[in-house]
Amino acid sequence: MQDREDYSNCPLCEGVEFTEIYRADCSQHQCYSPQFRPEIIWKKCKACMHVFTSGYFTDAAFEVLFSKTPESRSVGYKIEEKRALSAKMIEKILPYANSGPWLDIGFGNASLLFTAREFGFEPIGVDLRRDNVMALQQIGVEAYCEDIQQLNLGRKCSVVSVMDVLEHVPHPKPFLRAAAGFLETGSPMLISMPNSESFAWDYATGTKQNPYWSELEHFHNFSRSTLYRLLEEVGMKPVRFGLSERYRLCMEVVAVKG
Ligand SMILES: [Zn+2]
Repeated sequence: MQDREDYSNCPLCEGVEFTEIYRADCSQHQCYSPQFRPEIIWKKCKACMHVFTSGYFTDAAFEVLFSKTPESRSVGYKIEEKRALSAKMIEKILPYANSGPWLDIGFGNASLLFTAREFGFEPIGVDLRRDNVMALQQIGVEAYCEDIQQLNLGRKCSVVSVMDVLEHVPHPKPFLRAAAGFLETGSPMLISMPNSESFAWDYATGTKQNPYWSELEHFHNFSRSTLYRLLEEVGMKPVRFGLSERYRLCMEVVAVKG
């Protein structure tokens, strides 16, 4: 099986000059299968400094990856414990929106959507894992198993969240543009991912404890700078920076549609 399609251009700026900066063994990853190459090669774009893997998964590789749903991403996982964490994320959005449809792209265990409903939002979920989508539909929550670039909700949303998703997407710019397209002007997006622009990141890398270099499912290591630039390019204005309490080394940013 061909597992990766090599990037011929930088996935953010289309630049063609990159240098290799890191090689990592991914054979111990929980989703690893012998059909995948055991090593990830990381490159850095000379023009825009974006850091990305040498290639992104082919459809066949995604099929292998999505054939299993890790327990932590199954709907309802640790529902009470996750509820408190989700509430902290929702509180960051409340100054910008407090009702209406909340679209969570890549909803995973659905904790954020379940909790958003408690706060008075109308939950809508999109995920590529069909069993998760069916689980939400069965309890009466609007959910879709579709590429967001094809999805038509028939109405705009008050909030869009993209939590720990963009680094999994082969081509982040059209994806983020599509996500922004679900929002009314002035409405907020909550977005999170690892932030490579921190002393904590450098320390973790230097001491060989940074999990993200060997993260089989990620194609990008964003920084606060590269994320902010990308948000601006798709018409989103970052208005609040914060840290994530869910995952190591992550940032959680609120941006408003301009
Ligand atoms: Zn670039």
